[in-house]
Amino acid sequence: MLKKNDLVDVEIVDLSHQGEGIAKHDGLVFFVENALPGEKITMRVLKVTKKMGFGKIESYHTYSPHRKKNIQVDYLRTGIADLAHLSYEEQLKFKQKQVADNLYKIAKLPDVPVFETLGMNNPKHYRNKAQIPVRRIAGQIETGFFRKQSHDLVPISDYFIQEPEIDKLINYLRDLFRRFELTPYDETSQTGLIRHILIRRGHYTGEMMLVLVTTRPKIFRIEQVIDAIVSEFPQVKSIIQNINDQKGNAILGKTYKTLYGKDTITDTMLGHEFSISAPAFYQVNTEMAEKLYQIAIDFSDLSAADVVIDAFSGIGTIGLSVANHVKHVYGVEVIKEAVRDAQHNAKQNGITNTTYVCDSAENAMAKWVAEGIKPDVIMVDPPRKGLAESFIEASAKTKARQITYISCNPSTMARDVKRYEELGYRLEKVQPVDLFPQTHHVECVGVLVRE
Ligand code: SAH
Repeated sequence: MLKKNDLVDVEIVDLSHQGEGIAKHDGLVFFVENALPGEKITMRVLKVTKKMGFGKIESYHTYSPHRKKNIQVDYLRTGIADLAHLSYEEQLKFKQKQVADNLYKIAKLPDVPVFETLGMNNPKHYRNKAQIPVRRIAGQIETGFFRKQSHDLVPISDYFIQEPEIDKLINYLRDLFRRFELTPYDETSQTGLIRHILIRRGHYTGEMMLVLVTTRPKIFRIEQVIDAIVSEFPQVKSIIQNINDQKGNAILGKTYKTLYGKDTITDTMLGHEFSISAPAFYQVNTEMAEKLYQIAIDFSDLSAADVVIDAFSGIGTIGLSVANHVKHVYGVEVIKEAVRDAQHNAKQNGITNTTYVCDSAENAMAKWVAEGIKPDVIMVDPPRKGLAESFIEASAKTKARQITYISCNPSTMARDVKRYEELGYRLEKVQPVDLFPQTHHVECVGVLVRE
């Protein structure tokens, strides 16, 4: 039986859904970072449990032909870009296989066509958003990313997948904090002021929002800090303070206060203008999200008489993109600022046939059914945990001709698809779209048609 620190020669046989190499030894499955299928390695055992183990590379004996060289290990260690060591072509195949495997294993659907993952032409520097911890290391304020499963900050200045303007602002803020001697948060002693910086940038407009997450309201010499930021970065249109005085992993607290400029920034998607509030969700890869939405819209085969439900609507990006081609759009979203954005965005774009409510999707769906609203197409775009059983039942009861399922987690999508199949829908096809190049994250659109 292997134990901690043992060395053993193994071959990597697969990639886990998190992108770690998988090796098998003595009937145990081992997960190894920075190891690709086909590679023969000497592995040092880090940990063994009854069913599985974790190992790390001691040395490589052979390399995969698909390995990309000269990738900074910090990108893998911190999980910013945990697939960066795999060629992009293979990343796209990996994602297609993730979707197909989940449909096969969980939904028992081996035959549904899962198309090739639609990839990016230039799969770098795409993220329009960053959430960066601020900590002190060896006496100095640093910004970077936490090492996976830890709160040890790894200082980074080139984030590889973020828009370069965002990296520039982060590095500028780090230097500014040093100059103004602002204290970074210390988790152990629960002291210090600055916990995180969040930055969002309108992909097309270039407008930037900065959120400073602090432990308490007062920021020493804040006027000078703001002056410095906006004179160096005039594209910063909104600076917001978020106060998080709680212990724990949540990045954001409940209180927001606008320190400078607007409460929102603006961007465009598929030709419409969108205002985005700090707490609202906005897809991090605008170029590919537009492709994703367009596929979802094309797959939905909409016509002028259709009533559409946009569930998990965020700031209304999907619903407002289809509103002009259908009779009415009903949207639901649980974050109140996002719902306000969606209502404002409808008005701003001259769209009058949408109704956005603030509620859980499951509650709203039940209410709409009770009110006798008869959707023709239901578009869902839930978070990783997928749909609630009550939502699935209520939505199936409407007898909508199609459910267009946008998913960021193929395993919960497969679970939900299985339920829809039991309730009279059939999964016709799935198109994966690469919204998160260089990472293990998988996004796809599935079409469920009523039998
Ligand atoms: N369709 C939008 C948002 C998708 S992200 C877009 O493409 O931008 C998922 C959204 O679901 C988030 O805005 C989140 O706040 C919201 N959400 C999470 N749980 C929810 C629930 N139970 N009911 C309604 N909305 C929910």
